[in-house]
Amino acid sequence: MKQKAEVVICGAGIAGITTAYHLAVAHGVKDIVLVDERAPMSLTSDKSTECYRNWWPGPGDDMVQMMNRSIDLLEEWARASGNVFHLNRRGYVYATCNSENISGLEAFAQEASDLGAGEVRRYENGKGGYQPLAAEEFEDQPEGADLLTSPDLIQQHFPYLSLDVVGLLHVRRAGWLSAQQLGTYLLDEARAHGVQLLAGTIDDVLVEAGRITGVLLADGTEIETNVFVNAAGPLLDKVASLYGEELPLHNELHLKAAFNDQEAVLPREAPMVIYADEQQLPWDEEEREWLAEDDETRWLTETLPSSAHTRPEGGLQAQTILLLWDFHNDPVDVQIPPELDPEFPELALRGLTRMIPGMQTYVGRLPKPYIDGGYYTKTQENRPLACPSEVEGAYVIGALAGYGIMAAPALGELLATHITGGELPSYAQAFDLVRYKDTDYQELLENWGASWQL
Ligand SMILES: Cc1cc2nc3c(=O)[nH]c(=O)nc-3n(C[C@H](O)[C@H](O)[C@H](O)COP(=O)(O)OP(=O)(O)OC[C@H]3O[C@@H](n4cnc5c(N)ncnc54)[C@H](O)[C@@H]3O)c2cc1C
Repeated sequence: MKQKAEVVICGAGIAGITTAYHLAVAHGVKDIVLVDERAPMSLTSDKSTECYRNWWPGPGDDMVQMMNRSIDLLEEWARASGNVFHLNRRGYVYATCNSENISGLEAFAQEASDLGAGEVRRYENGKGGYQPLAAEEFEDQPEGADLLTSPDLIQQHFPYLSLDVVGLLHVRRAGWLSAQQLGTYLLDEARAHGVQLLAGTIDDVLVEAGRITGVLLADGTEIETNVFVNAAGPLLDKVASLYGEELPLHNELHLKAAFNDQEAVLPREAPMVIYADEQQLPWDEEEREWLAEDDETRWLTETLPSSAHTRPEGGLQAQTILLLWDFHNDPVDVQIPPELDPEFPELALRGLTRMIPGMQTYVGRLPKPYIDGGYYTKTQENRPLACPSEVEGAYVIGALAGYGIMAAPALGELLATHITGGELPSYAQAFDLVRYKDTDYQELLENWGASWQL
């Protein structure tokens, strides 16, 4: 079978869907075919924690500006759709039990603020004015971030946190949404503007004289096209190899657990809560000795990274909470479906007990958890790609790591602008493969620092 299309997009995850949406709805491009071998949003895009924030580190203000644009779009779509995807604005709360880490939180806050993420308000002993979060609202909420360093004030607003929490940063242009509903809303809009969703596997991408001429599906269907968008998520490099391009990427497996918080340890109105301290898990002496004896488990007795985090999932009447903690970030080969470590929920839970002592009630007797996970596809410096490729007519959108749901609205818009030839935003070059040809950027890459990215 042979057909023709103006644009073929490989992948109906959030990256492919936002690109199709912007091309069809904003630019009026006709004859777009969106091909996926799975159900839309079902490989990585439904495994996410579904959170967003405009709070990003440098160098440069590109991540902050791009995320601000993305959140503008999310808010616009929430208004237009009657908020079908449940956008909230509860914020991210980073908590520390170590007074020496407050200056780190402050520096992190000041850096993002200087890059355009909003002002930092400081609340010390006895200083009022901190505005508590609104659980279900996204309109008319504070911007920037609040730094609370009075334990009394912290307890007043976050009584489920440990009395040992001495510093807390509440990032305000942040929250979460339903990614599945967002994807469905955008896909429905795109289809109403003529986008065709096609079930199938893209097996080959045809190139003649350095130009895209079509794609070949596993069932033998050939689609003639001069524009091909690679939005294949963790399979981005595999699909790029079909048109002869090598992308500088690696994949990491990240897991997430959910369980019923029957004891209501985390209030339903809570924000996303992140433990900002490194830690050693509180094993008893016997457990510690036993774990330390084995090469496979010794790491559990050592200092583990910061960023164990949790948030309520579902409405105010629900009980589910999510648990996450990225203690392994090694590059791995992609395996679909990935292998899920059954020990993960218990470890992530233990990682939260210092910050939220009530979690202790579940240690060793966690109500049956649900585990899932997917791949963070990353460039070396964890910045995304949304740009043309070396092959004329080929484009790539991906390497969205742990921030694809929040970034795809702006990156899909950026890629649609590349394809249709409009004026590019200030952050375009930062997410373009051409950055790797810039010698100043190569120097920057050599000194790229660790960051607070989730
Ligand atoms: C545990 C976890 C937590 C996360 N938390 C957050 C968060 O809080 N906030 C946030 O913004 N992001 C988060 N993310 C990241 C986010 O989920 C991803 O960045 C995003 O979903 C990637 O979207 P994608 O469209 O690039 O890839 P995918 O969703 O994987 O879509 C790619 C699609 O391409 C298709 N495909 C591939 N090859 C072919 C082919 N040859 N033919 C046809 N189809 C093909 C696949 O079937 C798939 O549907 C998290 C991710 C994980 C794993």
